[in-house]
Amino acid sequence: MTTTEHDLIVVGAGFAGMYTTIHAARRGLDILGIEAGDDVGGTWYWNRYPGARCDVESIDYSYSFDDELQREWRWRERYATQPEILEYLSHVADRFDVRRHYRFGERVAGATWDEAAHRWTVRTQNGLTASARWLAMATGGLSQPQLPDIPGRDSFTGEVLQTSAWPHRQVDFTGKRVAVIGTGSSGVQAIPLIAATAAEVVVYQRSANYSIPAFNHPIDDDEWDRQQQNLRRRRELSWNGSAGSPWTSHPVPFDEATLAEREAVFEESWRRGGVLFAKAFQGLTVEPRINDAAREFFERKLAERVPDPHVRAALTPTDHPLGTKRICTDSSYYETFTLPHVRLVNLREDPLVAVDPTGIRTATGLREHDAIVYATGFDAMTGALTAMDIRGRDDRSLRDEWQGFPVTYLGIGLPGFPNLLVLNGPGSPSVLSNMALTSEQQGEYALRLIDHCRAEGLTSAEARADAATAWTEHSLELADRTLFGSAPSWYTGSNIEGKARGFLPYIGGFRAYIDRADQVAAEGYRGFILSTR
Ligand code: NAP
Repeated sequence: MTTTEHDLIVVGAGFAGMYTTIHAARRGLDILGIEAGDDVGGTWYWNRYPGARCDVESIDYSYSFDDELQREWRWRERYATQPEILEYLSHVADRFDVRRHYRFGERVAGATWDEAAHRWTVRTQNGLTASARWLAMATGGLSQPQLPDIPGRDSFTGEVLQTSAWPHRQVDFTGKRVAVIGTGSSGVQAIPLIAATAAEVVVYQRSANYSIPAFNHPIDDDEWDRQQQNLRRRRELSWNGSAGSPWTSHPVPFDEATLAEREAVFEESWRRGGVLFAKAFQGLTVEPRINDAAREFFERKLAERVPDPHVRAALTPTDHPLGTKRICTDSSYYETFTLPHVRLVNLREDPLVAVDPTGIRTATGLREHDAIVYATGFDAMTGALTAMDIRGRDDRSLRDEWQGFPVTYLGIGLPGFPNLLVLNGPGSPSVLSNMALTSEQQGEYALRLIDHCRAEGLTSAEARADAATAWTEHSLELADRTLFGSAPSWYTGSNIEGKARGFLPYIGGFRAYIDRADQVAAEGYRGFILSTR
């Protein structure tokens, strides 16, 4: 097979890949996009499980780069469903003619840096090979599914489903006895919808998570008009905020607020819905006393939602401070456990032993099921890249290097891997922020670096090892000042056996990150080695 030659290869056709492709094409670059799915969408292409929706408000979770696009796309609900977001991304792809650049159904197997030519050669599992000076990895932070290694897992003879690789057909649970393993955001969203039709649902929970109602609703014309009138301001606040959304914490510090004021602030933040609760007071995920107050408030709400004290105790998180694992955003999650055909198995008390041909065996015995749904998460932030065989300068293997903690410069540059630009990589705000905007920022940053090199006649940009080490240490130090490190979560790699531990995203805030990255660019890409072949 012949190797095609390009200026830039973009891997992935989610928010970041599409942004990068659209704007690289506008610059006149010859681009090849490679995407494992059969169409655009990234996360929203794969995660088609019932109840899948975004936990960032639709009006914010959309591209900001084109005014007309912002005004013509009318979101239907406050939190968009997966089909609606996929429809939106498909619309963006049509509008900006994205698909013509992509080869779909092609999963990258590996990429090799050619030091003599200053080019990457990329191979897919189907044998497609292509070469480009620049390689942008828009492969997503939560795209490498993780299936737990439970004894007998593959012996089950019923239907096996995974939230992160849900079939494209309608799955009918009517009359079925369904098991769900996993109670993170995916499980929490799927369980109420599965329970709506299944004959029986057994939820196997290892750790209880904090879940807060979304208060989702359809957006009526009045709300839409108001949102449109405020859109410019809203975007400004999002771009200048710490997490890419317009919401900020209460202006009065927790310690200066009266008990009544604290209660009112928690209530108001609760009503904002989902993850926004963690913004109630500045320092909620830093100061144990603020976190404790938020947790007490949460537990009072939980008592209203789950009257049975035994079930409630099992659903009460005990192993992490509130907000230090991603808060789940739900619609009737806890209420589902008040239904007679829904049961919770607390794996802390009744450990999972094995999957059998007919069901799941725990310490207390076998429960029979017709279907098992795995909502067991991802090898986050690094897994998509370590699944590939990426070879940099002197045949350095990214997979081997990332056996240890990933050392990156701004999340984008990797020492030893010139011209490899990781979008939303470890060391960038990514998953802690609104990924629609971080994807724009990351794509634009990568393209400006390419612009700079092309303008200066440079053919290679590589993060310096010392700059990457300093950035990674800075990122880890910031995380150490918070309560995040005390939570076992995918943020720290602790959900994957043998994975190096450490807080993966940059927690210093979206705006602070942009300012640091822009400063690097303004200083001629300080910390990058720029060279000519
Ligand atoms: P997750 O948060 O990592 O949750 C995985 C669940 O599976 C956890 O409850 C975990 O228990 C459990 N689990 C894993 N291995 C297990 C085993 N061997 N035995 C029993 N239980 C096991 O994954 P996720 O729910 O897919 O969510 C990942 C992230 O994707 C979220 O945090 C969020 O950022 C994003 N997401 C967002 C949305 C949204 O926008 N609303 C929806 C879905 C996902 P432990 O906690 O004990 O490890």
